Amino acid sequence: MAGFYRIMKNLGYRKCLQLYELLEIGCQIFRSQVTHVIKKSELSMSKVYIIKKAEVANQIGANSCPKCGGELIARMGEFGDFKGCNNYPKCRFTIIN
Ligand SMILES: [Zn+2]
Repeated sequence: MAGFYRIMKNLGYRKCLQLYELLEIGCQIFRSQVTHVIKKSELSMSKVYIIKKAEVANQIGANSCPKCGGELIARMGEFGDFKGCNNYPKCRFTIIN
């Protein structure tokens, strides 16, 4: 746990939140894909994960929220510019530019 706090201190709170969001999305996608992969064993899990990661990156690039499909809007924050979902506060997805 000490390592975790050190990382958090070094990265800063906002960056950690962003990492957490991405991890959470990654886990959700991973979980939803596991059953699919077991059924279609010709696809390796890592392959699916890489494809899904690219999809998320594409969605963010197209200003589409990877969590709910809403629109990502550029906002000015206390700690710099970021993109946030237009379905806030229903969807709390944000990403630092
Ligand atoms: Zn959203």
